[in-house]
Amino acid sequence: MNKLFSLLFLLSLSLSINSCVEYENKDERKKRESEIQEKVSWEIDNSIDSKVINSDLVAGKMTIDVGIYFPSNLDKAFKKVTLDKMIESFKAAKEIYKPTDVQLNLLWVKTGKVNPSFFSIQANETPGIPRTEYVNMYQHMQRHPAVLTKHAKAAFEHIVEPDKDNHRTIYLIVLQEVFYPFLDVSEGRNWMIKSVRTGGMSFPTYSYLENLPNRFRGVMTITNLSRPDRFRRTIAHEIGHKAMNVSHEYMEQDPENEVFAEGGLMLYGQGEDIPSGEKGRWHLERLHLSPFIYRMSADGIKQWNLDYKEGGHYYDPIYGKKIIHFSSKPPINENW
Ligand SMILES: [Zn+2]
Repeated sequence: MNKLFSLLFLLSLSLSINSCVEYENKDERKKRESEIQEKVSWEIDNSIDSKVINSDLVAGKMTIDVGIYFPSNLDKAFKKVTLDKMIESFKAAKEIYKPTDVQLNLLWVKTGKVNPSFFSIQANETPGIPRTEYVNMYQHMQRHPAVLTKHAKAAFEHIVEPDKDNHRTIYLIVLQEVFYPFLDVSEGRNWMIKSVRTGGMSFPTYSYLENLPNRFRGVMTITNLSRPDRFRRTIAHEIGHKAMNVSHEYMEQDPENEVFAEGGLMLYGQGEDIPSGEKGRWHLERLHLSPFIYRMSADGIKQWNLDYKEGGHYYDPIYGKKIIHFSSKPPINENW
């Protein structure tokens, strides 16, 4: 009988210890969750004089507004992006867009403490349906838009301050790592999941459509400007994904996840060209139609371009005939 009692006592003791441990974990989790839900308290970085950087702006010209969020508490070992490199890359982007008549307006540079859980994010959920030969990349993305991960969405909630022009503004957010998973053919009729560590990620509307909440439509992450070619082109290239609303394509080169070639700004190479006309896949014309562009009127009111009509897929009606129809190459042997 005594043995039974001591057994029961031990059992109840272990139960109460277990529930106590569980209680503590729940508490910690709640604390962590509320910390994540807190917003960053951003402050303007006065070491950057945006007036000087913007001194070349001309009133009445096509303009894109850009804000830079630079976390103040990044890991000490992270040196891939510095504030100097960001500003250099932004200035280079201004130069690259000069021939297009579009000017970039630096709204501000802000610093503040970001929750470290957001230093590294996965941009989108792993896609389940690969692109095949029946429709091209843009049609495929229109049918199966990328899905922002919950963690990435929470990061943007935490970082981007609410503003009436959120959906018309480009936000360059410096983070340490942004992974982008995609499907690639491995062999035969098998696909595999690859995840690329991005140096810059534009979260383009042709890919996410309305899965990217309107408030975050302008977010872009910058994670590596360490090589000279990267800091020269990265910001301009990423703005191109947003503002031309195209993937990696140029002249007769159809879009792909990765295209290593020279010439165009929208390829992986040294190119900075933004071509025009049908031969140039309407890059310049699409840029000029971008909902991120406004002209300042004489009385200081921003006259915005038309907004997307169908969530901003590649063939959105705002582009009219400034679109390219092309077929898709079979990704695997047709006799599979
Ligand atoms: Zn790109």
